[in-house]
Amino acid sequence: MDEFQIINKYFLQKNLGSGVILGIGDDGAAISHNSSSDLITVVDTIIAGVHYPKHIAAEDVGYRALAVNLSDIAAMGAKPRWMTLALTLSSSDDSWLKGFAKGFFELAQEFNVNLVGGDTTKGSETVITVNILGEVQKGKILKRSGAKAGDSIYVSGTLGDAAAGLFCLKELQEPFLGSKKFLVDRFLRPSPRLELGCSILNSASSCIDLSDGLYADLFKLLDSSGVSGIIEMNDLPISKQIVEVIGREKAVYLALSGGDDYELCFTSSDDFISESDLKVTKIGTVTNGSGLSCRLNGSNFAFHSQGYRHFS
Ligand code: ADP
Ligand code: MG
Repeated sequence: MDEFQIINKYFLQKNLGSGVILGIGDDGAAISHNSSSDLITVVDTIIAGVHYPKHIAAEDVGYRALAVNLSDIAAMGAKPRWMTLALTLSSSDDSWLKGFAKGFFELAQEFNVNLVGGDTTKGSETVITVNILGEVQKGKILKRSGAKAGDSIYVSGTLGDAAAGLFCLKELQEPFLGSKKFLVDRFLRPSPRLELGCSILNSASSCIDLSDGLYADLFKLLDSSGVSGIIEMNDLPISKQIVEVIGREKAVYLALSGGDDYELCFTSSDDFISESDLKVTKIGTVTNGSGLSCRLNGSNFAFHSQGYRHFS
């Protein structure tokens, strides 16, 4: 059983109880809050040696633990408000904790999210869980499930950088400079796209954040929406830095399959025009049916990726 089979078999419940607008199956859950807003709750864990190499700086671990959760808040179109932090550590290393807290609160201050509780325990590995509560305008939640045939598919930023950065961290010698530093930073310090998430509340028909790779995550969005889609591979946004480090062919492969980008992928029937410096690119179209295909120079390109699955 992989992680999704475990969730479906043991944790998916039929009766969600009163006040629950959206349960298991999206980037966050939604709960009815007051007359003007709904509450969004998200939780994600990162484990040393599983989600990041053990040797990276504590500041980056702190930043990243919060960034990956803020990304799920962004994917729901919400604003982050409050959070809790559960820390499992093998020892109480003062300099590690100082660095961790610095990176963590640097990002928390940027997005005005306050730590209101948590749990601290001793264990054999470093395990960090962040839960965030956010607010979204009532009835406007961005879900994975609203894409319609004919909608355009968009992604923010550039794709594949973080996976290439992780490769550099694992396989190459430091110091990382120039394009390699850009890629490594894209892994260590993801940019949660909170402004974009809020700005597409009225125009996007569905949204997901890219944690497991474009192909796998867009597949989940299309599946939730009961539609299919086509990715135009020539239109994938790829940074010049990734091309410089690993070449265009591998960059396109990582853009489709590499995890940890934490960009937003959304669908819309409108022509999207970015109102900020953040690049947003149309990469394909939603179609009737099921599944996701890739097209290169007008022909079908055989590609499949289910993304990283724990226990598979
Ligand atoms: P994401 O990649 O956006 O963090 P996941 O793929 O981890 O989302 O999870 C898929 C869905 O399953 C989410 O809605 C998540 O809340 C839910 N989920 C994951 N693990 C559990 C669990 N143990 N119990 C209940 N729901 C879970
Ligand atoms: Mg997500």
